[in-house]
Amino acid sequence: MQLVLPLSSETALIAELHGRLLARFGRPRPCRSLDPVSQLVMGIIGGRTLGADSLRAFEALRARFASWEALCDGPVAAVEAAIQPVTYEDAKARHLRRALRQVTARRGRLELDFLRDWPVEPALAWLERLPGVGRKVSAATLNFSTLRRPALVIDTHHLRVLRRLRLVGPRATIALAYDHIVPRLPSGWDAAEYDDHHQLLKKLGQTYCHAGTPACAGCPLRPLCPSAGAAPVVRPPGSRRRRGRARR
Ligand code: SF4
Repeated sequence: MQLVLPLSSETALIAELHGRLLARFGRPRPCRSLDPVSQLVMGIIGGRTLGADSLRAFEALRARFASWEALCDGPVAAVEAAIQPVTYEDAKARHLRRALRQVTARRGRLELDFLRDWPVEPALAWLERLPGVGRKVSAATLNFSTLRRPALVIDTHHLRVLRRLRLVGPRATIALAYDHIVPRLPSGWDAAEYDDHHQLLKKLGQTYCHAGTPACAGCPLRPLCPSAGAAPVVRPPGSRRRRGRARR
C-alpha cells in the first residue's frame, strides 16, 4: 500500500531522505555534461544496459560516425554493429536513427538547445514523441546534458526505493512515479539538486536496497522506511519469473 500523506509532509520526508543520504554517501561528484543531442543518443542506447557497456557503445558510435548527422544518413546495420555491447541493439539502432531524423525534420536541423527556454513539462512531452524515448530518457536529456533543467531522472534502482518507501504504489511506472514525486520535491531545488537526488537514491538502490533481499540493517533510511526488514523482492520491469529455478 502507498503511504498517503499531505503534500507538505511528503516534501518534508523527501528532504529528510535526501539529507540522510547526503550524510551517508556525501555529495555526488558532478558528471561531465554532454550536449543535449549526445545525451539523447546516450539515453536511447543505454536502457537496460550496464553503464560501462552504454559508454563503450556511445564511444563506438562517435568513432564510427563523423557526426550525428552522418549517423542519420548512414546504414542502420552500421549503427547496430557499433552499439553491439548494449541490449536490444537492433531495436535501439532503428529507434536512434529515426529519433534523430525526426528531430531534424521537426526543427530543420539536428539540435535540442531550444529546449533550454521551454517549461520542463512541455519539453518532456516533446522529447517523448520521439521513438525510443520514455520518461527516463527525456528527463536525462534535460537534466544531465548542458541544458541542466530541473527534471528528475528515475531509473529502476530509484523506482525500487520509492516503492519500498511507499512514496509510490507497488506497480508505479517511472512516468507515474515522476508525476507523483516531482511536485513534492522541495521548491527551492535547482537542476543540480535534482541530479544529486537521483544519484543518491540510485546509489542506495545499488548498495543497500537491492532488487533481491535488501540490506536494511545498515540502511540510512531504515528509521523512515515502512518496508524495513520486510521488503518484498522487486523484479526489474521486463524480467520474467522462471519456474523451478531460483534467480541468482
Ligand atoms: S530500509 Fe530496507 S527496504 Fe527500506 S529503503 Fe532501506 S534497504 Fe530499502
